[in-house]
Amino acid sequence: MKHAALVCTLIMLWLSGCASQPRRVSPPPAITTTSSVPAEQGSFRPDANLYLCPNATITNALESDGRNRVLNFNPVVLVEGKVVLTPVPVNNACLTSGFGRRFGRTHEGLDLQSKPPETVYAAAPGIIREASTSSGFGNHLVIDHGQGIYTRYGHLDHFASGVYEGARIGFGQPLGVMGQTGNATGIHLHFEVLTGNYNNPRRSFGLTAHNPLSFPAYTGQSSGS
Ligand SMILES: [Zn+2]
Repeated sequence: MKHAALVCTLIMLWLSGCASQPRRVSPPPAITTTSSVPAEQGSFRPDANLYLCPNATITNALESDGRNRVLNFNPVVLVEGKVVLTPVPVNNACLTSGFGRRFGRTHEGLDLQSKPPETVYAAAPGIIREASTSSGFGNHLVIDHGQGIYTRYGHLDHFASGVYEGARIGFGQPLGVMGQTGNATGIHLHFEVLTGNYNNPRRSFGLTAHNPLSFPAYTGQSSGS
Protein backbone atom coordinates (compact mmCIF):
# COMPACT_ATOMS: atom_id res chain seq x y z
CA MET A 1 0.00 0.00 0.00
CA LYS A 2 2.81 2.40 0.92
CA HIS A 3 4.48 1.70 -2.40
CA ALA A 4 1.24 2.45 -4.26
CA ALA A 5 0.85 5.72 -2.38
CA LEU A 6 4.40 6.75 -3.26
CA VAL A 7 3.87 5.93 -6.93
CA CYS A 8 0.63 7.90 -6.86
CA THR A 9 2.40 10.89 -5.28
CA LEU A 10 5.13 10.74 -7.91
CA ILE A 11 2.56 10.60 -10.70
CA MET A 12 0.72 13.55 -9.17
CA LEU A 13 3.99 15.51 -9.03
CA TRP A 14 4.75 14.61 -12.61
CA LEU A 15 1.29 15.66 -13.75
CA SER A 16 1.26 18.90 -11.86
CA GLY A 17 4.88 19.90 -12.23
CA CYS A 18 7.19 20.42 -9.29
CA ALA A 19 7.57 23.77 -7.59
CA SER A 20 11.30 23.43 -7.04
CA GLN A 21 12.09 21.99 -10.47
CA PRO A 22 9.68 23.34 -13.08
CA ARG A 23 8.98 21.04 -15.97
CA ARG A 24 10.16 22.54 -19.25
CA VAL A 25 9.26 21.72 -22.83
CA SER A 26 11.64 21.25 -25.72
CA PRO A 27 10.75 23.72 -28.45
CA PRO A 28 9.53 21.93 -31.59
CA PRO A 29 11.56 22.50 -34.78
CA ALA A 30 8.64 24.52 -36.17
CA ILE A 31 9.25 27.27 -33.63
CA THR A 32 12.39 28.11 -35.56
CA THR A 33 11.09 27.44 -39.06
CA THR A 34 7.61 28.95 -39.33
CA SER A 35 9.06 32.42 -38.98
CA SER A 36 10.71 33.77 -42.08
CA VAL A 37 14.05 34.62 -40.50
CA PRO A 38 16.67 31.91 -40.13
CA ALA A 39 18.69 32.63 -36.99
CA GLU A 40 20.53 30.58 -34.40
CA GLN A 41 18.31 29.16 -31.66
CA GLY A 42 19.00 29.93 -28.00
CA SER A 43 18.99 27.45 -25.14
CA PHE A 44 15.71 28.70 -23.61
CA ARG A 45 13.06 26.05 -22.96
CA PRO A 46 9.58 27.28 -22.01
CA ASP A 47 8.07 26.19 -18.70
CA ALA A 48 5.36 23.56 -19.16
CA ASN A 49 3.05 25.26 -16.66
CA LEU A 50 1.97 28.80 -15.84
CA TYR A 51 0.85 29.88 -12.37
CA LEU A 52 -1.02 32.91 -11.10
CA CYS A 53 1.13 34.94 -8.69
CA PRO A 54 -0.01 34.39 -5.08
CA ASN A 55 -0.41 38.14 -4.64
CA ALA A 56 -2.16 38.72 -7.96
CA THR A 57 -5.30 40.73 -7.38
CA ILE A 58 -6.41 40.93 -11.02
CA THR A 59 -6.51 37.70 -12.92
CA ASN A 60 -8.90 38.78 -15.68
CA ALA A 61 -11.08 35.75 -15.00
CA LEU A 62 -8.42 33.17 -15.90
CA GLU A 63 -9.36 29.73 -14.65
CA SER A 64 -6.87 28.01 -12.39
CA ASP A 65 -6.71 24.93 -10.20
CA GLY A 66 -6.25 24.77 -6.43
CA ARG A 67 -2.52 25.36 -6.79
CA ASN A 68 -2.96 28.55 -8.86
CA ARG A 69 -1.96 26.71 -12.01
CA VAL A 70 -3.59 28.22 -15.10
CA LEU A 71 -5.88 25.67 -16.75
CA ASN A 72 -5.56 24.83 -20.45
CA PHE A 73 -2.17 26.54 -20.71
CA ASN A 74 -0.19 25.74 -23.86
CA PRO A 75 3.56 26.55 -23.68
CA VAL A 76 3.92 26.45 -27.48
CA VAL A 77 1.13 27.85 -29.67
CA LEU A 78 0.30 28.39 -33.32
CA VAL A 79 -0.72 31.97 -34.17
CA GLU A 80 -3.26 32.30 -36.98
CA GLY A 81 -2.01 29.05 -38.51
CA LYS A 82 1.26 30.76 -39.45
CA VAL A 83 3.84 31.27 -36.72
CA VAL A 84 4.76 29.02 -33.78
CA LEU A 85 5.79 30.85 -30.61
CA THR A 86 5.77 30.61 -26.85
CA PRO A 87 3.25 32.85 -25.05
CA VAL A 88 5.47 32.97 -21.93
CA PRO A 89 9.05 33.84 -23.03
CA VAL A 90 10.58 33.76 -19.55
CA ASN A 91 11.24 31.01 -16.97
CA ASN A 92 10.00 30.81 -13.37
CA ALA A 93 7.40 33.50 -13.97
CA CYS A 94 3.91 33.83 -12.57
CA LEU A 95 1.09 35.89 -13.98
CA THR A 96 0.15 39.13 -12.21
CA SER A 97 -2.32 40.26 -14.85
CA GLY A 98 -3.93 38.74 -17.88
CA PHE A 99 -5.24 40.13 -21.15
CA GLY A 100 -8.47 42.06 -21.03
CA ARG A 101 -10.35 44.80 -19.22
CA ARG A 102 -8.47 46.41 -16.36
CA PHE A 103 -9.11 49.77 -14.69
CA GLY A 104 -11.68 50.60 -17.37
CA ARG A 105 -9.37 49.99 -20.34
CA THR A 106 -8.00 46.99 -22.16
CA HIS A 107 -4.73 45.51 -20.92
CA GLU A 108 -3.28 44.34 -24.21
CA GLY A 109 -0.87 41.71 -22.96
CA LEU A 110 0.30 39.49 -20.11
CA ASP A 111 2.19 40.74 -17.06
CA LEU A 112 4.73 38.15 -15.95
CA GLN A 113 6.81 38.38 -12.80
CA SER A 114 9.85 36.39 -11.66
CA LYS A 115 11.78 36.76 -8.44
CA PRO A 116 14.65 37.36 -8.84
CA PRO A 117 14.12 39.08 -12.21
CA GLU A 118 14.73 36.63 -15.05
CA THR A 119 16.13 36.92 -18.54
CA VAL A 120 13.51 37.53 -21.24
CA TYR A 121 13.86 35.57 -24.49
CA ALA A 122 12.64 35.92 -28.07
CA ALA A 123 9.29 34.08 -28.32
CA ALA A 124 10.06 33.11 -31.93
CA PRO A 125 12.71 34.09 -34.46
CA GLY A 126 12.41 37.37 -36.27
CA ILE A 127 13.77 40.84 -36.92
CA ILE A 128 13.80 43.48 -34.18
CA ARG A 129 11.63 46.33 -35.49
CA GLU A 130 11.65 48.55 -32.40
CA ALA A 131 14.23 48.83 -29.61
CA SER A 132 13.43 52.05 -27.84
CA THR A 133 12.52 53.75 -24.59
CA SER A 134 9.15 55.35 -23.90
CA SER A 135 7.36 56.72 -20.86
CA GLY A 136 4.80 53.91 -21.01
CA PHE A 137 6.63 50.69 -21.79
CA GLY A 138 10.09 51.87 -20.73
CA ASN A 139 12.79 49.90 -22.52
CA HIS A 140 10.73 47.94 -24.98
CA LEU A 141 11.18 45.76 -28.04
CA VAL A 142 9.01 44.69 -30.93
CA ILE A 143 10.00 41.63 -32.95
CA ASP A 144 8.63 41.00 -36.46
CA HIS A 145 8.10 37.24 -36.92
CA GLY A 146 6.95 37.56 -40.51
CA GLN A 147 3.50 36.98 -42.04
CA GLY A 148 2.07 39.94 -40.11
CA ILE A 149 2.81 38.58 -36.63
CA TYR A 150 4.73 40.51 -33.97
CA THR A 151 5.58 40.33 -30.26
CA ARG A 152 6.22 43.21 -27.83
CA TYR A 153 8.32 43.11 -24.64
CA GLY A 154 7.90 46.02 -22.20
CA HIS A 155 9.61 47.37 -19.04
CA LEU A 156 12.96 45.63 -19.66
CA ASP A 157 15.71 46.65 -17.26
CA HIS A 158 18.15 46.78 -20.17
CA PHE A 159 18.70 45.22 -23.57
CA ALA A 160 21.05 42.28 -24.08
CA SER A 161 24.04 42.73 -26.34
CA GLY A 162 23.19 42.31 -30.00
CA VAL A 163 19.67 43.65 -29.46
CA TYR A 164 19.05 46.68 -31.67
CA GLU A 165 16.64 47.72 -34.40
CA GLY A 166 17.20 45.70 -37.54
CA ALA A 167 18.98 42.82 -35.79
CA ARG A 168 17.98 39.26 -36.62
CA ILE A 169 17.18 37.20 -33.55
CA GLY A 170 16.63 33.48 -33.09
CA PHE A 171 14.03 31.75 -30.93
CA GLY A 172 15.17 31.64 -27.30
CA GLN A 173 17.92 34.22 -27.66
CA PRO A 174 18.19 36.63 -24.69
CA LEU A 175 16.60 40.05 -25.19
CA GLY A 176 17.38 41.51 -21.76
CA VAL A 177 16.19 41.20 -18.17
CA MET A 178 12.72 42.08 -16.90
CA GLY A 179 12.63 45.40 -15.06
CA GLN A 180 10.54 48.35 -13.97
CA THR A 181 11.31 50.95 -16.63
CA GLY A 182 8.49 53.15 -17.88
CA ASN A 183 5.07 53.13 -16.23
CA ALA A 184 5.31 50.01 -14.02
CA THR A 185 4.41 49.47 -10.39
CA GLY A 186 6.84 46.59 -9.99
CA ILE A 187 9.44 44.53 -11.81
CA HIS A 188 7.74 42.49 -14.52
CA LEU A 189 7.58 41.72 -18.22
CA HIS A 190 4.66 43.07 -20.25
CA PHE A 191 4.28 40.74 -23.24
CA GLU A 192 2.02 41.19 -26.27
CA VAL A 193 1.22 39.22 -29.41
CA LEU A 194 0.26 41.56 -32.26
CA THR A 195 -1.01 41.07 -35.80
CA GLY A 196 -1.62 43.35 -38.74
CA ASN A 197 0.11 45.64 -41.20
CA TYR A 198 3.16 47.31 -39.66
CA ASN A 199 3.38 49.86 -42.46
CA ASN A 200 1.03 52.33 -40.81
CA PRO A 201 1.80 55.70 -39.21
CA ARG A 202 1.62 54.32 -35.67
CA ARG A 203 3.92 51.35 -36.36
CA SER A 204 3.44 48.71 -33.62
CA PHE A 205 0.72 50.79 -31.99
CA GLY A 206 -1.38 50.45 -35.14
CA LEU A 207 -1.38 46.63 -34.82
CA THR A 208 -4.06 44.50 -33.16
CA ALA A 209 -3.25 42.89 -29.79
CA HIS A 210 -4.45 39.36 -29.01
CA ASN A 211 -4.58 37.39 -25.78
CA PRO A 212 -1.33 35.36 -25.89
CA LEU A 213 -3.13 32.57 -23.99
CA SER A 214 -5.95 32.33 -26.54
CA PHE A 215 -4.07 30.57 -29.33
CA PRO A 216 -4.31 26.82 -29.95
CA ALA A 217 -1.49 24.51 -28.93
CA TYR A 218 0.99 23.77 -31.67
CA THR A 219 0.44 20.13 -32.56
CA GLY A 220 2.89 19.64 -35.38
CA GLN A 221 0.70 20.99 -38.17
CA SER A 222 1.32 24.38 -39.74
CA SER A 223 0.12 25.95 -42.94
CA GLY A 224 3.11 28.30 -42.88
CA SER A 225 5.66 28.16 -45.65
ZN1 LIG B 1 1.09 44.92 -18.73
